[in-house]
Amino acid sequence: MALSFRPASLFQLEGKRALVTGANTGIGQAIALALAGAGAEVIAVGRSSMAQTEALIKDGGGTCRTFKADLGIPAERQALIEQAAGAFGPIDILVNNAGIIRRAEALEFSEQDWDEVMDLNLKAVFFLAQSFAKHVLARAGRGKIINIASLLSFQGGIRVASYTASKGGVAGITRLLACEWAAKGLNVNAIAPGYVVSNNTEALRADPARNAAILARIPAGRWAEPADIGGAAVFLASAAADYVHGVILPVDGGWLAR
Ligand code: NAD
Repeated sequence: MALSFRPASLFQLEGKRALVTGANTGIGQAIALALAGAGAEVIAVGRSSMAQTEALIKDGGGTCRTFKADLGIPAERQALIEQAAGAFGPIDILVNNAGIIRRAEALEFSEQDWDEVMDLNLKAVFFLAQSFAKHVLARAGRGKIINIASLLSFQGGIRVASYTASKGGVAGITRLLACEWAAKGLNVNAIAPGYVVSNNTEALRADPARNAAILARIPAGRWAEPADIGGAAVFLASAAADYVHGVILPVDGGWLAR
């Protein structure tokens, strides 16, 4: 058998265009930087300024476009893929990263905190994947979808009812879409980050007891930095993962192995 394994070319994303939602901070920003580092042109999408992400990518010699959209507004997310592709060209990779969390005891949990989290974390993820798939299939192309799941796609958690419901749902639709689209040239997978230093976990890190309990259970002995998630995104976006479908890939410092 010839030596056909060429790591450098398998993981390179030169000539690919990747749309990353919520790319201004945290995990989304780190994924945007990692994809750009692997050669992809990044479209950084969100409701806030993408200036920092754009500057970091440009300073590193990469290409970053920016596109403003509030994914909590149905009309904006419905139009997003076609408008971004119209402005910058065909999109090959979708990273469904934008997400929110609300914390309250289940006994007190409000409908508003249920609806807003489910709308952004689950409904927007499904319908963005749907419009991206239509966009790819209309040009008979190939595409990669990477959803951001969570440890709470596998576990219950506490005080985050709608978040747990939404991330369980993300794992479910990742598998469903993989089953429907794998043979059509679309790879649908998810990353389940462990406990990452970002806005999302500020409240946990500010609570000394929770912080210590979480740290004590992480085999790697530290919280993840957003950059720890980038490599998995490059892998799933690349040719190296062409036969990987419907996987929820934990990047968690060993948390789930415990
Ligand atoms: P973050 O709060 O820094 O990032 C969330 C991003 O979503 C931000 O860029 C924000 O602007 C964007 N966003 C929120 N509402 C939006 C809207 N209506 N329209 C467009 N963009 C919107 O936190 P993060 O930890 O980087 O979170 C990124 C993803 O990772 C989320 O899906 C989160 O659930 C997931 N996650 C985080 C952790 C963690 O430990 N931090 C663990 C597992 C999964």
